[in-house]
Amino acid sequence: MEKLFIDGKWVVAVSGDSIPVYSPITGDSFATISRGKEEDVDLAVKAARTAVKGEWSKLAATDRGRLLMKIGQSVLDHLDELAEIEAKDTGKPMSLARKDIQALARYFEFYGSAADKVHGQVIPYMTGYAVDIIREPYGVVGHIIPWNYPAQMLGRTIAPALAMGNASVVKPAEDACMTSLRFAELATEAGLPSGVLNIVTGYGYEAGSALSSHPDVNMITFTGSPQVGTLIQAAAAQNHVKCVLELGGKCPQLVFNDADLDKAVPAIVGAIVQNSGQTCSAGSRVLIQEDIYDEVITRVAEQFKTLRVGSPESASDCGPIITHAQFKRVQEFIDDCLASGLTPLAEGKYANNLPENGYYIKPTLFGPVPRDHRLAKEEVFGPVLAAIPFKDEDDAVALANGTDYGLVASVWTENGARQQRIARKIEGGQVFINCYGAGGGVELPFGGVRKSGHGREKGFLALEEFSLTKTIVHHYE
Ligand code: NAP
Ligand code: MG
Repeated sequence: MEKLFIDGKWVVAVSGDSIPVYSPITGDSFATISRGKEEDVDLAVKAARTAVKGEWSKLAATDRGRLLMKIGQSVLDHLDELAEIEAKDTGKPMSLARKDIQALARYFEFYGSAADKVHGQVIPYMTGYAVDIIREPYGVVGHIIPWNYPAQMLGRTIAPALAMGNASVVKPAEDACMTSLRFAELATEAGLPSGVLNIVTGYGYEAGSALSSHPDVNMITFTGSPQVGTLIQAAAAQNHVKCVLELGGKCPQLVFNDADLDKAVPAIVGAIVQNSGQTCSAGSRVLIQEDIYDEVITRVAEQFKTLRVGSPESASDCGPIITHAQFKRVQEFIDDCLASGLTPLAEGKYANNLPENGYYIKPTLFGPVPRDHRLAKEEVFGPVLAAIPFKDEDDAVALANGTDYGLVASVWTENGARQQRIARKIEGGQVFINCYGAGGGVELPFGGVRKSGHGREKGFLALEEFSLTKTIVHHYE
């Protein structure tokens, strides 16, 4: 059984309970993990609190950064091993698993090299006064991570937190936590002091809830569903601590009649198929100007028909859905679309030698989807693309902004002024012009508005999110 990682050591959960881990590839149980609960979270938070006051707080920013870069290098040195763990745990194609591990390393390189470049400010104030603004860590940060990009999300959330001198307690999703456990071991071997990084596996309603409501946690980051995001925010409110929430999206890809379709079509398909659509920033709606609707949809459909869903070992474009529960949720959504009268325009195929009991769903294209249909507004979190025609710029913007979410969008047009107009009118955290970056870009600030959450991760802005200012006023005359 996999253990919890607390205070630099492997420990069994206080209760001794465990959770079976099922493979999305075959449906079989292939491992067990410890079922951490409130008492284990409490031990992890205590260890993090001790660490944040100890040796860790005395390290110079340069040394902290150097250590993070060493961890990044260790991840790259173990790329094959970690990618295999990630692919086995999540079912994603090896090519994507490798990219995810490289992104994990990249987060540690980026934030490691940034750790000593967060400079303060000097404020001109009254004569005889020197005013400095310095940045300090929050202290103990709780991180609740989902299963769709476990390795990437781990890097995204803990690398900036550690770069700023915080200590972390991580609750990975019980459906995909193997990489984070191996990572903790590698980080410790690289020299991360005990207690700076703690991993408590377990169920969300037990370990996750205990972490988000723990009175000695100073900040919480969460990526997952809006429903659980509400619980996290309520728990943070009780303790008056900050939370950063990233809660998914229904991201639009806008295609105007002057778009370069040779570039747009493969990117549009890739943006929904990547990770089997289990991506918060998946481009799950393609909004097409009405005079080119037929042409675009025909070309997108052709590509959909060539897609293969299969296991990491097969030559597939996408893997299975993470769990049986998610598989059922996505399948029911598709069934509901069919029952409502929508007909699929195109579907992908199963790869050869598909394991019988895995959770495979064929990529599916629907269109034209009525604007008030649930497929036009709700997140499926599966490989399902909704095509919707629009009239003109105003209509496109209204449609793009017409869901509860606001996270990422793309705009496909050769008209430079239009590119700028639309990018500024889109409500969300990232807009891509003539490209799409689902999940990518360690350097690029990322986050949402409305039901997609709030706060910013990635890029330098994350260093501000994971630290607080202190204003020091010195009267010297
Ligand atoms: P979820 O329940 O929101 O899970 C995300 C994380 O929160 C997991 O680590 C989960 O732990 C934990 N959690 C669950 N209940 C909790 C609670 N009461 N307190 C604290 N933490 C808690 O998401 P899901 O059920 O796996 O997936 C459902 C839907 O969420 C998906 O269909 C998708 O729409 C959305 N989702 C979005 C993202 C994203 O990237 N924005 C990622 C994943 C899912 P356990 O899993 O161990 O219970
Ligand atoms: Mg798994």
